[in-house]
Amino acid sequence: MTDYKRCILLKYGELILKGQNKRYFEERLRSSVRRRLDHVLGEGNYDLYSMQSTVFVTPADQDLVEDALEELKTVFGLAGLCAAWRCEKDMGDIKKVLTEKISPELYAYKSFKCEAKRSDKDFPLTSLEIMLEAGDTLCIATDDAVPVDVREPDVTVVIEIRDTHAYIHFDKLKGAGGMPVGTSGRGLLLLSGGIDSPVAGYMMARRGMEIEALHFESYPYTSERAKEKVLELARLMCRYTDKMRVNIISLTEIQLAIKENCKEEYFTLILRRFMMRLAAKVCRRRSLPAIITGESLGQVASQTIGALCSTDAIAQENHIPVFRPCIGQDKDEIVVTSRKIGTFDTSILPYEDCCTVFTPKHPKTNPDMEKILEEEAKLDIDLLCKNAFESLEYVNIKYYENT
Ligand code: ATP
Ligand code: MG
Repeated sequence: MTDYKRCILLKYGELILKGQNKRYFEERLRSSVRRRLDHVLGEGNYDLYSMQSTVFVTPADQDLVEDALEELKTVFGLAGLCAAWRCEKDMGDIKKVLTEKISPELYAYKSFKCEAKRSDKDFPLTSLEIMLEAGDTLCIATDDAVPVDVREPDVTVVIEIRDTHAYIHFDKLKGAGGMPVGTSGRGLLLLSGGIDSPVAGYMMARRGMEIEALHFESYPYTSERAKEKVLELARLMCRYTDKMRVNIISLTEIQLAIKENCKEEYFTLILRRFMMRLAAKVCRRRSLPAIITGESLGQVASQTIGALCSTDAIAQENHIPVFRPCIGQDKDEIVVTSRKIGTFDTSILPYEDCCTVFTPKHPKTNPDMEKILEEEAKLDIDLLCKNAFESLEYVNIKYYENT
């Protein structure tokens, strides 16, 4: 009797390249995959093993395969994924799957080809023979309704003969790519309510960083709803990052002191330098070795080379690199990613940000460092930072608590 099962194949991405670290990368990837599967299928309700740069998942509840597949599309480190039929390594069984399971779905395509991969070299047929027999089987099953096109097929039917079973599936879907979260260390994302910073966090998480966030509020000039919006953005980002601690610091006292004492054209620059000082403090407290921002060159007055230099100076004093993955992107490119990751609709909700409170009419775009220092000298920087840091509160967000 043919015994076939629905399962999921997950293909590793870039981590194949990682030589000696490969095992560590694989473990991180498997634990990300397990976290998702535990959520959607329930702990212990699936079989998982990995071999030859592929993770094989067989859910006990066969009706949940598509749900699990959907959930795994946002796991970094996966280059491709697909649902497959698993059967015995027997040509009779393979043909039965092709006839009963693959051929009904083939009508949706304009043309097809078959591809065979045979990692078990003891299998009696060669790859070419498997391909030809599979093609014939599908042509017969569909009464030649779907033509074969080996050059530019609309869809490819893949037959993989692996160590214990055969797997049959259509083309793979593209995975989230990048590297497993946590394999490139940790970073502090300065998370505003805007479009850019969630995208910046996503980009660095995709490179394998574990993300913690820092949001600055300016209550009562910014509202409770503005804070909620930022927490919602963090929740949405957790589809990719799994979890995120969001630290929140109040800038109200600092902003009022700047407004009271400094020249208006320097407000934003001085404020941003305070943000960096506080971010560096959070990095030290939380052992985070890098800062991430959503800045893009020339987007606003505080994102000119001179302005970025003046904030970088603070990060450098603290020996912390600032990663700005959006620096060379146009707004519309950033928006494309923002839509793709699902943060756009929340980002455009019209709540105020602390940067938009007390915005100068004519901000300095080409600041003179000496002038900035002169203006800052009018403030008790250490005391203001200490007080602001005391306002720190945090929220731990986990993806699964939202769903
Ligand atoms: P975004 O769309 O990310 O808000 P923006 O175009 O509004 O960016 P700015 O307001 O100048 O640009 O902010 C530049 C970067 O500074 C943001 O991407 C973010 O990393 C950081 N930032 C700005 N406001 C805040 C805030 N209230 N809390 C934390 N970080 C902030
Ligand atoms: Mg902003």
